[in-house]
Amino acid sequence: MYTSVLVINCGSSSIKYALVSERREDRIFGLAENLGSPEARIKGITTGGEALEISMPNADHEKALEIILERISHHNPQAIGHRVVHGGTLTKAELLTPEIIDRIREATPLAPLHNPAHLVGITATMRLFPELPQVAVFDTAFHQTMPAHAYRYALPKFLYTMHNVRRYGFHGTSHAYVSERGSELAGSFKQGGWLTAHLGNGSSTCAIWNGQSVDTSMGLTPLEGVVMGTRSGDVDPSIHRFLASNLGWDIYKIDKMLNNESGLLGLSDLSNDMRTLIEASEQGNEDATLAIEVFCYRLAKSLAALSCGLPQLNGLFFTGGIGENSAFIREKTVSYLPHFGFNLSKEKNDGLKRGTEGRIDVGNGPQIWVVPTDEEGRIAKETQSVVEQGVSAAVKKSDVVEEAVA
Ligand code: ADP
Repeated sequence: MYTSVLVINCGSSSIKYALVSERREDRIFGLAENLGSPEARIKGITTGGEALEISMPNADHEKALEIILERISHHNPQAIGHRVVHGGTLTKAELLTPEIIDRIREATPLAPLHNPAHLVGITATMRLFPELPQVAVFDTAFHQTMPAHAYRYALPKFLYTMHNVRRYGFHGTSHAYVSERGSELAGSFKQGGWLTAHLGNGSSTCAIWNGQSVDTSMGLTPLEGVVMGTRSGDVDPSIHRFLASNLGWDIYKIDKMLNNESGLLGLSDLSNDMRTLIEASEQGNEDATLAIEVFCYRLAKSLAALSCGLPQLNGLFFTGGIGENSAFIREKTVSYLPHFGFNLSKEKNDGLKRGTEGRIDVGNGPQIWVVPTDEEGRIAKETQSVVEQGVSAAVKKSDVVEEAVA
């Protein structure tokens, strides 16, 4: 039976939470932000859709979790699901045991900003809710089905064998949910070849064959791939040497520039927010216009490249804040893929209501769908399934013990 699961996503100074139960309308969610600073606060939605705002000056992760858990404990969550960005080579969601916690810690060099924050959240919830089963759901797990020719870099072999340098991919929870839901809507559940474009502040693409990821645009870290809000996506790796030699920049300055000052923000010199850029472009801002063009062209290029991983192309799913809400970006991106035979319906594309799923092509080429992502729902579902498997394994074990005793 589907029960309520608390989904936690701990960042370095924030915690996103959602209490996911059977009916999506009943979902309670919120964000604790500015943790560790005088402005620390929780903003969210309570049962019945009312807004919630709690100020908690200087609260750290543990204090914030205590307040969140106190507020939702009367809903009796049956399990906690933690979003964990990097699971190393773990291939699926796992019940949190000391061994799995060690594996998350071991993957820290691959996600130095994210995994330590997740571990803070995991430690705190285990202390506060010792009786609840807790599960880690990894952003990387869905992509563990990629073949070696998609996940290996053309670098010296020892960097892979001794130091785990390879492509991992991220946003796996979203690509998995959207491709499953989309293929279900298309009447071919987890069958055929699909491309997904998850377009938010972070963006990535994925190729999925018969329900499994066969390639994705992000790599060792979430910097590789398409243009994002503040991340550059693909650049010539020699840019590091160029900037070091000519501008005297060190590796940290270059890394910060590529992660935090590039992408839409860098190109436009205005904003990382697509809505702001579309408005600015409409008012004649040429840098905003160029940023949008580069975003869509490189996105189309990435989708075309990933299609090489698919024996056939059934269609394309758009998701994420930009993919779900901007008909303009969807149209522009598809316009750069004329040889794929996509036939976007302007009417359906422009007419799709915000936040709704729907098909936006005219029907005689690969399909195009908008599928709003539901990472929290997917994390809750995976958590539930891991807990149920654990229970049935425990029941089987006790049957064996009883038989042995009898
Ligand atoms: P995150 O990756 O942080 O979860 P979201 O998936 O919420 O981000 O996506 C945020 C992006 O979606 C922002 O660039 C925002 O401008 C963009 N966005 C939201 N609504 C629209 C819209 N109507 N048109 C264009 N872009 C939009």
